[in-house]
Amino acid sequence: MLNYSENWRAGKRVAVVGAGPGGVSAALALHKLGYDVRVFERNAEPKPIGGAVLLAVPVLAVLRYYGVDMENFGSFTITEFRNNKDRLRARLSFNASVEKSFGIKGWHYGMLRSNAFARMMELMPDGMLVPDSDFDSYVEQPDSVLVNFKNGTQVEADILVGADGIRSGVSKQAFGDLGLFHVGLRAWLAWCDPLEGIPANTGRIIHSRKYQASFFPMLHDGKPGYEWWIVEPSKEGAPVPTDVKAHVANILKDFPDPLPRFLNATDMTTQIFKWEIYNRPSLEKWSTGRVVCLGDAVHPVSPYAAYGMGMAIEDGYFLARALGRCNLRDMPKVTQAFSVFENERVAYVNHNVEFARKLGNVFHQLPYPLAKLRDFVFDHTKFLHNMISKDYLSEAEKMSLSLQELHQKT
Ligand SMILES: Cc1cc2nc3c(=O)[nH]c(=O)nc-3n(C[C@H](O)[C@H](O)[C@H](O)COP(=O)(O)OP(=O)(O)OC[C@H]3O[C@@H](n4cnc5c(N)ncnc54)[C@H](O)[C@@H]3O)c2cc1C
Repeated sequence: MLNYSENWRAGKRVAVVGAGPGGVSAALALHKLGYDVRVFERNAEPKPIGGAVLLAVPVLAVLRYYGVDMENFGSFTITEFRNNKDRLRARLSFNASVEKSFGIKGWHYGMLRSNAFARMMELMPDGMLVPDSDFDSYVEQPDSVLVNFKNGTQVEADILVGADGIRSGVSKQAFGDLGLFHVGLRAWLAWCDPLEGIPANTGRIIHSRKYQASFFPMLHDGKPGYEWWIVEPSKEGAPVPTDVKAHVANILKDFPDPLPRFLNATDMTTQIFKWEIYNRPSLEKWSTGRVVCLGDAVHPVSPYAAYGMGMAIEDGYFLARALGRCNLRDMPKVTQAFSVFENERVAYVNHNVEFARKLGNVFHQLPYPLAKLRDFVFDHTKFLHNMISKDYLSEAEKMSLSLQELHQKT
C-alpha cells in the first residue's frame, strides 16, 4: 500500500480518481468540509483539454466559494441566436433575481480553459494530488474501499469518487459498460486575440441550414480575445480534413461578419481543437455502495448547452454539500448523502445532456424540407427563444436559486 494511506484519517478518507475539473472541484469542496482527500491522476500532471470555455454564474459562484481569484477571470457576454443572414432569432435574457442573488452580472462568461483550471489547481494543498496513478479497479469491503492502480499500488479509502472522464474505468466497473455513441457532430473550437468592430459583451450562436459558427468574447491570461467555433455534421470514422484552415474557411464564408475574419486572427497550429462528440445512454444512478461518479464519467456532453466543464464543477460542489461533515465510515449516512446528491443532480444533468443532443439533431440532422420549415419557424416566431428558456434557462435558474448558501448577503 502507498504510505500516505497510513496518514489518512479513517472516516474522512476520500479517494478521487481523475484530476479534471470535476475531480478537482470535488476535492476542493470536500477539503473545505474537513475531508482528507487524495486525487489520483493517471498523467504526470493534470492537463486541461485545450481551448476556451463558457462558464455560467452558478459555476463562478462555486469557484468563488472555493477561493478562486475572480479578478479578470472571464469576459461577461450576452448570448444571441441568429441565422447566417444575421437575423436575430433569440436573445437569452436571464432572471435578474439570479444576478442579484449571486452579485455576479449576467449569465455566461468566456475564458481560456487552462486559465480557469490553473486557478483551481492553485488552491489544491500540497500532497493532495497523486500523479502517475492510473486507476485499475476497486474492491468494496464492509468498512472501506480498496483502490488498485495499474502500477500495482493499492490504497484504502472510505469512499471512492470516479471523476475519470468520458472513458471512466470507475464508472465502467460500477455501472457496466453502456458504450459510447457518436452523436453525429464534430466541433472545431478556436480562440484568438480581439478584432475590431464587434459589439462589446456580445456572443452569437449562428446557424446556416447545416452548420453552426459562433463566437464569444473571452479572457486569456487576463487579456481580451474571442473564442469561436464551428459545429458540423459528422459520423464515427469520418475522415478528418487534412487542410483544416481550408475546410474551416469554406464553412465560414457563408457566415456574416465577423466570423470569416476570425480565421486569419487564429494560429491554426496552437489555437484550434477538434472535438468528435460522443455521448453515452443516460444513467439513472451515479452511486453504488461506497463509490460515486461525477462529470463526464457519468454524463459525457455535447456542445449544445450541455456545458460539460461547468456541470462537472457543479457536481463536485453538490456532492460535498450532500455529504456535509459526516463520518464516512457510517454507511447509512453515506448512502443517504449519495441519494441526496443524485436527487439534486441526475435528472437535472440528464435533462441538459438530452436537450443538448436534441438541439444538435434539430440544427444539424434534419433532412431538407424539414430543415427549411425549421428555419422558417425559428426566423419568424419565438419558438426557439421559448424552447431555450423553458428547457435550459428556467431549470438552470431554479438550480441557481437553490444554492442559497452561495448567494451574497445584502
Ligand atoms: C475538445 C473539447 C472541447 C470542449 N469544450 C467544452 C466547452 O467549451 N465547454 C464545456 O463546458 N465543455 C467542453 N468540453 C467538455 C468538457 O471538457 C468536459 O465535459 C469536462 O472536461 C469534464 O470534466 P471531468 O472532470 O468530468 O472529466 P475530464 O476533464 O475528462 O477529466 C478526467 C481526468 O481523469 C483522468 N483520468 C482518466 N482516466 C484515468 C485513470 N484510469 N486513472 C486516473 N486518472 C484518469 C484524466 O487524465 C483527466 O485528468 C469539451 C471537451 C473537449 C474534448
